[in-house]
Amino acid sequence: MGRAQKMVTLDEITELCTRRGFFYQTGKIYGGLSGFYDYGPLGVDLMKNILDDWWWYFVERRDDIYGLSGSIITHPKVWEASGHVESFIDYIVVCQKCGTEYRADHLLEDLGVKVEQYTLEGIKTLLRSHNVRCPACGGELSEPRAFNLMFSTNLGPKKSPPFIVYLRPETAQLIFVNFKNVVFSMGATLPFGIAQYGKAFRNEISPRNFLFRLREFIQMEIEYFVNPKKLNDCPYFDEIKDIEINLLSAEDQEKGLEQARKIKVEDAVTSGLIGSEWHAYWIAESLRWLWRIGLSPQNLRVREHIKSELAHYAQQTFDVEYYFPYMGWKEIEGISNRTDFDLRRHQEHSGEPLHIVDDGEKVIPYVIEPSFGLERIILAVLTEAYTIEEKRTYLRLKPRIAPFKVAVFPLVKRDGLDTLARKIYNELRDRFRAYYDEDGSIGKRYAKADEIGVPFCVTVDGQTATDGTVTVRYRDTRQQVRVPREHLAELLHNGIEEKS
Ligand code: AMP
Repeated sequence: MGRAQKMVTLDEITELCTRRGFFYQTGKIYGGLSGFYDYGPLGVDLMKNILDDWWWYFVERRDDIYGLSGSIITHPKVWEASGHVESFIDYIVVCQKCGTEYRADHLLEDLGVKVEQYTLEGIKTLLRSHNVRCPACGGELSEPRAFNLMFSTNLGPKKSPPFIVYLRPETAQLIFVNFKNVVFSMGATLPFGIAQYGKAFRNEISPRNFLFRLREFIQMEIEYFVNPKKLNDCPYFDEIKDIEINLLSAEDQEKGLEQARKIKVEDAVTSGLIGSEWHAYWIAESLRWLWRIGLSPQNLRVREHIKSELAHYAQQTFDVEYYFPYMGWKEIEGISNRTDFDLRRHQEHSGEPLHIVDDGEKVIPYVIEPSFGLERIILAVLTEAYTIEEKRTYLRLKPRIAPFKVAVFPLVKRDGLDTLARKIYNELRDRFRAYYDEDGSIGKRYAKADEIGVPFCVTVDGQTATDGTVTVRYRDTRQQVRVPREHLAELLHNGIEEKS
């Protein structure tokens, strides 16, 4: 059968997501709000399955990572200390003729211009030298100006002066300001991490590409704290040192190379391409989890930030990028060495000591931060899963993250088959996310299940009444096998928990 060559488009994914209840644009009946999507019934399950698997992989099965869930509206001093009030900005230009607002660096990138210096002056010069005009109407553009991406709101009724607070633009800072609390209440010792997932908000100038650039999205972040003297002392390094990754270094990019090289994690550390064992460990662990939820290694690469891209807090950053056939390589996760920047800044601004004792010495730990964006991962997962074959289109989702694990059908809606099928469905749904469907031809019901990525369909037919067997149909191969009813639960369990 084989996978067909036709590549999925973003329009096809968007259409499927809306029609089958994964995502809806928010407030669509009032014209919609750009950059915001509501999760539909299937989207909620997909989200929950990915979050649960992330939490299991990075928190529950380990003994060195603690969970946290911080507040969304956050003390303004947090963002002054972190540098976001001053530097969490993009540059905006407005068309003088039609009023459309653009993110200046996106306009330049769309014209194939590389933005080397992400400063007001750098952007100004490029816009001028390339004589950039409004892509919509050809009008003249305003001078660029800095635009802070944080959403703010007023706390309480006081109007003059108002108490301005921020919706968190990242979950990370809530971890830093709770660092000492977790150390005290959990007796945490280095090295250890704190993980958190939840909503983050960024007032993006031009949200676009469906789930890719949103104004409200979910981050899954880990801040992993390490003694700065022990960055090359990762006790788990042996587990990952032989993993091969596709790495595109800053140096290669500066030479104009665009092709990642295949390299073993250990070699990437010894050659100095990845700054430390701990940084390399978190890159490898991230990749292992992304493979686990269905992204294939050849569609993932690890690209180092070049100097001009590095955030104000980072010493070295790698983006895990996914190859979207309709928009090329794009970041789905960032993995930064944030040094002791954040803890030091919070210590300075709050006056609270934020050190920890390690080997009898007070240290402010360094931080390695894997930061995943859930919606971008969902878009990657859907893109990878969307399979177009000659006669059908289906979502090849990993069973562990598929919204529904099993669908139960009577072959026909009579002769007591429907009653029997409902009974089997009722037994199964205690353990597996399942649905029952008796409407329309069996072929149509299979097609619908395929389209929403149900890995197993169970069909009850005449033979079920006589010998107690049902048909199990596998989504990817369309292969059908007869199994005794009492073996169903085990078969489904094994199919969902497959090793990988
Ligand atoms: P950053 O803090 O910018 O490195 O972002 C960390 C992760 O959050 C990225 O790798 C993305 O997956 C995700 N992310 C950042 N900005 C957005 C956005 N506007 N829409 C959706 N996801 C985002």
